[in-house]
Amino acid sequence: MTRLWIKQPLAILSEGEASDGLVIEEGRIIEMLGAGQAPLTPCDEVFDAREHVVVPGLVNCHHHFYQTLTRAVPAALNKELFPWLQTLYPIWSGLSEEMIEVSSSLALAELLASGCTTAVDHHYVFSDALAQAIDVQVAVAQRLGIRVTLTRGSMSLGQDDGGLPPQSVVQSEAQIIDDSLRLIQHYHDAGAGAMTRIALAPCSPFSVSREIMRESAVLAEQYGVGLHTHLAETLDEEAFCLQQFGMRTVDYLASVGWLKKGSWLAHGIHFDDAEVQRLGAAGVGICHCPSSNMVLASGICRSLELEAAGCPLGLGVDGSASNDGSNMISEVRQAMLLQRLRYGAARVSHFDAWRWATAGGAAVLGREDIGAIAVGKQADLALFKLDEMRFSGSHDPLAALLLCGAQRADRVLVAGEWRVIDGAILGLDLPRLLHKHGRLARRLLAAS
Ligand code: ZN
Repeated sequence: MTRLWIKQPLAILSEGEASDGLVIEEGRIIEMLGAGQAPLTPCDEVFDAREHVVVPGLVNCHHHFYQTLTRAVPAALNKELFPWLQTLYPIWSGLSEEMIEVSSSLALAELLASGCTTAVDHHYVFSDALAQAIDVQVAVAQRLGIRVTLTRGSMSLGQDDGGLPPQSVVQSEAQIIDDSLRLIQHYHDAGAGAMTRIALAPCSPFSVSREIMRESAVLAEQYGVGLHTHLAETLDEEAFCLQQFGMRTVDYLASVGWLKKGSWLAHGIHFDDAEVQRLGAAGVGICHCPSSNMVLASGICRSLELEAAGCPLGLGVDGSASNDGSNMISEVRQAMLLQRLRYGAARVSHFDAWRWATAGGAAVLGREDIGAIAVGKQADLALFKLDEMRFSGSHDPLAALLLCGAQRADRVLVAGEWRVIDGAILGLDLPRLLHKHGRLARRLLAAS
């Protein structure tokens, strides 16, 4: 049994004193050491962290890995959500399983390298060629050793029925429910320390039927899995709900049985005061995606009010076609800056942004085993160095990581295993992956 001492970090973001570091055994944190304390039992390995700022592994609550193949597509530039989606749907309908594998590898590698240890993906494009998309993603995540919640997305409301996506990428309700059940039974691990979880994720009000929203909620309740969707991202969507369903987004959510703990919403921007209170009272989670919201000019999430009302609040990089990066530490900085613009500099500190990216994200995913450095938690850590030009002259290490714009972790530990060392992802041939990813991205665009 290996016992690892992360010794005397330069700075640490922990629950309780840990200036002399922490001890890890069997993938969990078993001891936190205050100044001058040594481990109670001898350690087999000691990692000297005097040059490292140690934070809990970052939690990314919303992404679309496949979109790394459609970054900065000329035809989709400078558009807001609906026209942006309508430009990209036909391109995405050409995805193959090889493309899912390579794009998921690239996205997860980028997340890991930026300090993320738990990632959510929302895959909702299921053309005939992609029946095994989630199975492929499970294998990729296992290979890289990152913790994931893979959400089985769905689209059932095509253009023929008044929805936004083309018919080629929508599925029947029976297909969606059968495959959701299969994935839960095959892959979902409900236990503490789980590396793979499944959740159900109808794409958005404008791309799925009421029935699929309702049936997904029933299935999620029955099997104890999470529920995820995009909601209140833009005013276009609000107008769509009023026209199609005769109600606003939160009323719609309530009408399909989603206003409850275990549901989490990507974006969650356009809520009025009463809706904020309703969501908070129900304990619905919100994933704030600052870069995506700025790129598509969607609006600014009411983060502090949602949290105060009782909503768990986490962060997401969102799909790479709207961000267009998967850099999680950079997203933490974006959240701090954008939320300052809404609430003022005195009300949003770097600690708020760190909370959203760690404990907040864990709460959004309903996990008590991750998101903090404390005894009993999973040993998911991101270690950053301050030896780059951008940090020179900085004083407060935890503030400097965000204010000076950290880009890459030096080391990352997931469930007590090193997955990134000296900035490199273990077991990954990055040049080969980049070559393949670029080739497939060009092929996808050429085929559309
Ligand atoms: Zn999204």
